[in-house]
Amino acid sequence: MSVRALSVVPGKPETAGVVDHPDPAESEGSVVVEGLLMGVCGTDIEIVQQGYGWAPPGEERLIIGHESLGRVVDAPEGSGFAAGDLIAGIVRRPDPVPCAPCGMGQWDFCRNGQYTERGIKERNGYGATQWRVEPDFAVKLDARLGDAGVLMEPTSVVAKAWEQSEKIAERSPAPTKVALITGAGPIGLLAALLGVQRGYEVHVLDRITSGPKVDLVNAIGGTFHSGDVADVGVRPDIVIECTGYGPLVFELTGVVANDAVICLAGISASSREVEASLDKINKQMVLENIVLFGSVNAARRHYEQAGAALARADLGWLDRLVSRKVPLSNYADALQRHDDDVKVAIDLRH
Ligand SMILES: [Zn+2]
Repeated sequence: MSVRALSVVPGKPETAGVVDHPDPAESEGSVVVEGLLMGVCGTDIEIVQQGYGWAPPGEERLIIGHESLGRVVDAPEGSGFAAGDLIAGIVRRPDPVPCAPCGMGQWDFCRNGQYTERGIKERNGYGATQWRVEPDFAVKLDARLGDAGVLMEPTSVVAKAWEQSEKIAERSPAPTKVALITGAGPIGLLAALLGVQRGYEVHVLDRITSGPKVDLVNAIGGTFHSGDVADVGVRPDIVIECTGYGPLVFELTGVVANDAVICLAGISASSREVEASLDKINKQMVLENIVLFGSVNAARRHYEQAGAALARADLGWLDRLVSRKVPLSNYADALQRHDDDVKVAIDLRH
């Protein structure tokens, strides 16, 4: 039996396609999983269309997909998994050295960059009708989540962003109450959800003025703002920046509360240059105890936090976030942006 998977020779976008691959090697993990959905994000588009990514050593093609959802087909006794379980795989694997953080299971803080990543860097991904995973690198999902479980990986990224932000915010005795999320894409919306769950007054800023993303913010009790960050009219204690739009990053230092924490969780491929009064920004950050920091990827505990957050969320809301499911055979359409897309997923069952 062979496996159907979305794969590409990295660097050669013309080779992208759904092709037969051999059954996943036992070395990829003892848990055998039927692929259900693969979430699509900008990284997948970069791999398929722009030549990003690295194939596993000795192989030509890379199976893509790092946002996974599957159902366990077979798992060894004592693994913590059983046939029928809903499961998501962790993306990153520790580097072989390992560096100090990787040695402690905190590969999201890897020091030497030699980590590998499923579907991106030297390991096949989860965009396949069948995949394998090591029990230590998989998380069981609440069965009630169904297809919304595909939101697990992006939620793990915002779970880390929130955990780190609150850890840093603790250095000030002032309570944190107001959160601003910049960007209303899937990451921004999930960051808003976690903010509401943590008891924050949540504001979301984006360029759009209407549509499903605005409705999704309103539906969890957040306040949507469009336009300039200076016009939001609140002074947030914590900002989760999800747009990757550089000029906005520095504008944020001018609108936040004293002692605020600004977490940069988005990146942009552009290399735009703008003029900024860095001395003014420096002064503001010093005089107001402002912290600006970056956050990437997630450790196992962040996946667990994400699973708990999704299990607490309104299922209807999560289902609306997964706005479009595209059959595997029609994968190219999943990589095309449609109006009103929020999170697009490739359906590995069809
Ligand atoms: Zn490392």
